[in-house]
Amino acid sequence: MVETEKTEEKGTEQKMVLKSTEMDPKFKYEISKIPGAEKVMLCFQCGTCTADCPISRFDDFYRPRKLIRMTQLGLKDKLLSNDVIWLCSTCFTCIDHCPQDVGIASIVRALRNLTVERGHMPAGYREQVSNILKTGYAYVISDLRLKKRQQKGLPALPKANLESVAKLFDVTGFSKTLEKVGDVK
Ligand code: SF4
Ligand code: SF4
Repeated sequence: MVETEKTEEKGTEQKMVLKSTEMDPKFKYEISKIPGAEKVMLCFQCGTCTADCPISRFDDFYRPRKLIRMTQLGLKDKLLSNDVIWLCSTCFTCIDHCPQDVGIASIVRALRNLTVERGHMPAGYREQVSNILKTGYAYVISDLRLKKRQQKGLPALPKANLESVAKLFDVTGFSKTLEKVGDVK
């Protein structure tokens, strides 16, 4: 048993017991090679990102500062098996305010990508991928909403070129990654 991390942020108290056997010292280097995540080691845990994060305001567990610290400590399995990393809305507020210019949202994206490489993607995201493949849009737009657009005099939504969408999935390697995830039709 190595360390007990006790945090008090926004009125919540969370206790995490860390074991040295759970730490992968190479993980931070693995992450820092990913574009946008290069500055992960520059975080000095000031907490500005957590204070400004809109998701932290509404969720007791989502703390960007903590995710960065866990990355630095090499808690790879704990991070990649935790659905909390999917809560980030990619608003970039944390990046705008970080005094160390740490690409927090990009680090979260890197963690998500590694999670998907392991074959895990939350159901909501699988559904969005499926929608993109079928319609070109992440969300299915109902006939009622399309009709309302028409009534308001708004132009029709452009039709996606689904062949190009599928090609994009292939050339970026995303199709192959999706095979690991499964259950995306
Ligand atoms: S604002 Fe930047 S330096 Fe401060 S805790 Fe967040 S990532 Fe680290
Ligand atoms: S990008 Fe993600 S971590 Fe950063 S402030 Fe927005 S929701 Fe929070």
